[in-house]
Amino acid sequence: MNKEQEIMKLRHSAAHLLAHAIAELYPTTKFTIGPATKDGFFYDVLPTQNFKEEDLPKIEEKMREIAERNLPIEHKEVPKAQARKLYKDNSFKLELIDQIPGETVGIATQGDFYDLCRGGHVASTGKLKNFKLLGISGSYWRADRNGQQLQRISGVVFDTPKELRMYEKMREDALKYDHRKLGRELDLFSFHDEGPGFPFFHPHGKTIINIMTDYLRKKLVVGGYQEISTPMMLSAELWEQSGHASHYKQNMYFCNIDEREFAIKPMNCPGSILVYKERPRSYRELPLKLAEFGLVHRHELSGVLHGLFRVRSFTIDDGHIYCTPDQIEEEVLQAVQMTHDVFKKFGFDRINVAVSTRPENSMGEQAQWDKATNALKNALDRAHIKYEILEGEGAFYGPKIEFHIEDSMGRSWQCGTVQVDFNLPERFNLAYVNAQGTKSRPVIIHRAIYGSFERFLAILLEHYKGKLPFWVSPVQIKVLTITDEQKPYANTIIENLKAHGYRVTQDESSDPISGKIKLAQNQQIPWMLVLGQKEVETNTVTLRHRDGKQEFGLSIDQLLEKASAQNA
Ligand SMILES: [Zn+2]
Ligand SMILES: [Zn+2]
Repeated sequence: MNKEQEIMKLRHSAAHLLAHAIAELYPTTKFTIGPATKDGFFYDVLPTQNFKEEDLPKIEEKMREIAERNLPIEHKEVPKAQARKLYKDNSFKLELIDQIPGETVGIATQGDFYDLCRGGHVASTGKLKNFKLLGISGSYWRADRNGQQLQRISGVVFDTPKELRMYEKMREDALKYDHRKLGRELDLFSFHDEGPGFPFFHPHGKTIINIMTDYLRKKLVVGGYQEISTPMMLSAELWEQSGHASHYKQNMYFCNIDEREFAIKPMNCPGSILVYKERPRSYRELPLKLAEFGLVHRHELSGVLHGLFRVRSFTIDDGHIYCTPDQIEEEVLQAVQMTHDVFKKFGFDRINVAVSTRPENSMGEQAQWDKATNALKNALDRAHIKYEILEGEGAFYGPKIEFHIEDSMGRSWQCGTVQVDFNLPERFNLAYVNAQGTKSRPVIIHRAIYGSFERFLAILLEHYKGKLPFWVSPVQIKVLTITDEQKPYANTIIENLKAHGYRVTQDESSDPISGKIKLAQNQQIPWMLVLGQKEVETNTVTLRHRDGKQEFGLSIDQLLEKASAQNA
């Protein structure tokens, strides 16, 4: 049996243990379903009273007590009639029994507790040692919003205490370094009722976005892209033609002006396509690579909004590559390499890649799909990037590559896609004049690296726990003088650093140096320059790093050299 099956047994058995504990503490509770999940386990229950977070320690304590009884867990098949008798007062379990095919159902027993189940347990409750209840949330019977409201208690269980400790540390960190909290503390962005779900970037937040933009812009030039900019608002007919109006309408913002209907763009592709179509295109122009840092608006439900992770307006680093089917492989290779370079530059070393292939009910010819899918795979092979295949998970209009980056807390984030599209070229009747002088249809490759700037910034903040690398920090260097006497010297240094393009500020207060250092540390500024009388006399600086490490007696040239190495 593999590790994954073992852990599923643990989780499944822990769900029984949770129900057993609740049954002993609150005997009138009705149980519904309690599955093992990919992260842990939960049980959906209908209690007589409402469970509150404060009840969890008590339930967890009871679980521990039952675990220590080391009750053997037995599983047997019983006739349905017998099971119905056991659950005569529980309409949920009766409904489940009715749905199970055949004449018998499985019942697991531990001590005097029993539960309807398919089996797959650890031998006894004593095997359950490293578990923790995480929380209570609302749920619905059969996930039906109009159905019976239930309460879900969820938890995690691990093989070893070490794994549980690592999980707890990760969870603590995730709360402590929540980007919403860091965004407030570092004064990067805010949200306001006047624009629900629309982020407001403050000077330092906007500086980071600009750094991300400048960095990518340089790579786009090298990669042969041309940058365009298309309107925020386009006519409703365009969105009819693109298909967004029929598939995506509930997520779009519409408005009526001069008796004509417009929509605020949820995507940048149609705008880019109008630029392509502006004049006849020759095969000599292909691949034509148009990039846009396009602000889009999507009306997400308020319940799913979550800081910068899920917003209603965001900027995509969009790239649309118009090319021939024969050019797909080379273009994908370049896009994949650029994506990898960017993630590495931002400190993400663990990158997982997947290729999604043709789903059912998709458009286009099989030969076209095969060619495009092979192009994606060949490009990844040529780049020496390992990938998994997600069979049938592609969009209806073409195969794609997805990138997942793993952060310092072990969480995986989907960022970056390379998507082949046969659909929009058809819908917009795109063409180029081929070498024979007749018309051919190009393919579009949509590709994004950050995806959303906003979301990528949130991932960065949490990945670095607020301690952004020198090159991305909105303020890279802060100058702190020991007394006001060193201010003229400080000013000459600041001018020099600014002239070299560094983002520098000065602590203008007359606070003691320890207070100035503490503030700069809280602001997560990577470098502090501490200037006292000695530094003035020797024409040097003391460089204090964010972690407290100090370097004394650096000349300005030495400082500039160090800074330039950090910025590269
Ligand atoms: Zn079971
Ligand atoms: Zn697109």
